[in-house]
Amino acid sequence: MALVKEVDAPREPHARRRLEVFNPATLARIGEVEVDSEDDVRAAIERSRKAFDDWSHLSFRERASYMLKVRDTLIDRADEVAETIMQDTGKPCTEALMMEVVAACDPITFFAKNAEKWLKDEKKPLHGVFKIKKLVLSYRPMGVVGIITPWNFPFLLSINPAVQALMAGNTVVLKPSEVTPFVGLKLAELFAAAGIPEDVFQVVTGDGGTGAALVGGGCDKISFTGSVATGRKIAEACGRQLIPCTLELGGNDPMIVCADADLERAANGAVWGAFCNSGQVCISTERVYVVEEVAKPFIERVVELTNELRQGPEIDGDSDLGSLTFPPQLDIIERHVKDAVDKGAKVLTGGRRNPAYEGYFWEPTVLTNVTHEMQIMQEETFGPTLPIMVVRDEAEALRLANDSRYGLSSSVWTRDKTKGKQLANQIRAGASVVNDCLTTYGVMESPFGGVNESGVGRVNGETGLKSYCHVQSVLTARIGGKREYNWYPYTAKKRRTLRRAMGLLYRSPIGKLLGN
Ligand code: NAD
Repeated sequence: MALVKEVDAPREPHARRRLEVFNPATLARIGEVEVDSEDDVRAAIERSRKAFDDWSHLSFRERASYMLKVRDTLIDRADEVAETIMQDTGKPCTEALMMEVVAACDPITFFAKNAEKWLKDEKKPLHGVFKIKKLVLSYRPMGVVGIITPWNFPFLLSINPAVQALMAGNTVVLKPSEVTPFVGLKLAELFAAAGIPEDVFQVVTGDGGTGAALVGGGCDKISFTGSVATGRKIAEACGRQLIPCTLELGGNDPMIVCADADLERAANGAVWGAFCNSGQVCISTERVYVVEEVAKPFIERVVELTNELRQGPEIDGDSDLGSLTFPPQLDIIERHVKDAVDKGAKVLTGGRRNPAYEGYFWEPTVLTNVTHEMQIMQEETFGPTLPIMVVRDEAEALRLANDSRYGLSSSVWTRDKTKGKQLANQIRAGASVVNDCLTTYGVMESPFGGVNESGVGRVNGETGLKSYCHVQSVLTARIGGKREYNWYPYTAKKRRTLRRAMGLLYRSPIGKLLGN
């Protein structure tokens, strides 16, 4: 059964398509949403552009006060928001509250507080012959930012880029995933309830077609979070229009467990890092390399901890693992596990769909005897699987960690923090954590994004915030006079002087004094 179903094709000529949405944990029908057409999206972008005029002229303090009203509305309505997330995604209530609702308060507060510091005009001291001029960098908003988001963290991954884009002075049109549209609509409700001026933050609903309409509809930037395949299409479409895009894509994150790791912490970290949100986390631990010296106790503890997890539809807040959110994910997990087992992997626990429930539950699965010939080690599974490979030493772990077309995050587990940092630096990934897991996205000072096929650009941190601006440099001549030396006329004397000046400027103590 598909959890997002096309309602019968509309009969009236201009009626919109409608999608019916179901809860993946209980299969209960949640409701229907309209699919916004290309015209609807274009109209939303036009309204957004009109709203941009006033919004971009507000002071940082005024924009921050609006964002803090959104946060306070969120705190007041936290249970209702968590319930909507739970319905759309099938995740446990505590997880919805902790990793989406509570987690959203931090970026809102953080960017409301820090945007002015990072985006105010910056005077840049100049060197060499340019010392006689003055340079000021201004971070100008881009205009209308289109934000397209996935279903795995439908609330946090929508509100976080939206707040950054808005604090930078842009207006936003958000297209949430068709799998979790009610979370997107809840966001629109929150922004409206917080009194954000009309059309500054809008939500359009629908599937890939609506997303494509947003990308092609005249936005000034696209901020996309989702799969590599869609990211590629968006990059192509943005390239044709010469508009920038940030692409936050998939991952296949490695975890390296050294012989001197705190094994209890590493085992707990592996279990949460792999099974949190049923493994549907872009930075979830997707493959583990443990050195042979400590492999046995580590694997035994991981299996013990996995067997303690409670899976099922949320009833009274006691569920650790919810359902998968997107049913086709089940086929991918099944295919990866079967491929691994066919090629010699051993299932230590789990390895099947949970027979106790009708909803889309896959038992948390630990595998050993895995190799890089298996899909589970090469592709993103995005499910509750934890394949563990025993390696000779750290050098082999590093080589295997880097044998990937992805490069989002990674983790290293060792008691030696210096070694941890050194190993982390050798992993080709946008981020790495030492003795920790899944934390990088939540740390707002840290730019977040991938290398290789995991994405282009960064969100979060100063770098991420600045990616919602174009930097305008304003250079002012400090000294007047009729003209500059490099202007017309060109003369033979000027040519000779220039030729002599090169050595003076770049190979003499005078040049050094000038900062060359
Ligand atoms: P997806 O690419 O299928 O869909 C993401 C969004 O793109 C949805 O809103 C969808 O409607 C829209 N879309 C689909 N086709 C489009 C098109 N042609 N033009 C414009 N928009 C289009 O991804 P998904 O299945 O929703 O999400 C899961 C993926 O997201 C995983 O690969 C996961 O790793 C990745 N992800 C990455 C991050 C990150 O920060 N790097 C975070 C979360 C999820």
